Amino acid sequence: MPVMMNIAPVRAFKDNYIWVLQDDAGQAAVVDPGEAQPVIDYLREKGLTLTAILITHHHPDHVGGVPRLLETHDVPVFGPGSERVPGMTAPLGQGDRAELEAMGLSFEVLDIPGHTAGHIAYVGHGVLFSGDTLFAAGCGKVFEGTPAQMHDSLSKLAALPPETQIYCGHEYTEANLRFAAQVEPDNQAIQQRLETVAAQRRNDEVTLPSTIALELETNVFLRGGSESVKQHAEQHAGRRLDSPVDVFGTVRAWKDGR
Ligand code: ZN
Ligand code: FE
Repeated sequence: MPVMMNIAPVRAFKDNYIWVLQDDAGQAAVVDPGEAQPVIDYLREKGLTLTAILITHHHPDHVGGVPRLLETHDVPVFGPGSERVPGMTAPLGQGDRAELEAMGLSFEVLDIPGHTAGHIAYVGHGVLFSGDTLFAAGCGKVFEGTPAQMHDSLSKLAALPPETQIYCGHEYTEANLRFAAQVEPDNQAIQQRLETVAAQRRNDEVTLPSTIALELETNVFLRGGSESVKQHAEQHAGRRLDSPVDVFGTVRAWKDGR
């Protein structure tokens, strides 16, 4: 069912995006407000009223602005039930829903551990908020989980409808594509996307949202099944890689400079 909802980026720190969902009635919700001031400025500029905060994981660049926003806005804070999130009122996990009652929006919650142990995603209304798990043309570093967990989490997201729009936590797309072109040099879709994205970045444009369909074509972390990715990963590792998890782990370590 179509819902009147707009999603706009608010930039924070060097390359974070705080996503602002807004409706025609001037109500808003924010995803991962690592900083409060840019959100406060944006809400004032657009004449929006904050009605909810959604958090994907506990890292400071995603939750840092919450306490200050709560000083002036009495709103629910949705977040991962197994992580420490300041002011969290609705701890969520797999199978739960985030009900943004004021805006009439409802998101399904998926557990996607790997970057952090309790990382969650929000899915609904044709969009995915993937935090630091699935990036455009990349994925987050595996800080608190195992490569197998991260691989599972990414597979879960990859199985969403292809037209799903992806809103992630950082502007890493160009660097991700430059790496992807090394892992899969013969992939034309990666080359093409790199050209598009490099031009966007020269103009300081936002390269998001992505879509699941585009990620399936250009995200080497979802493409462990591709013969070319497997071959290049095996070359990098200097050994045979027998499973998609091995391929994923190798590509992740390669990107990490290991
Ligand atoms: Zn993070
Ligand atoms: Fe982050």
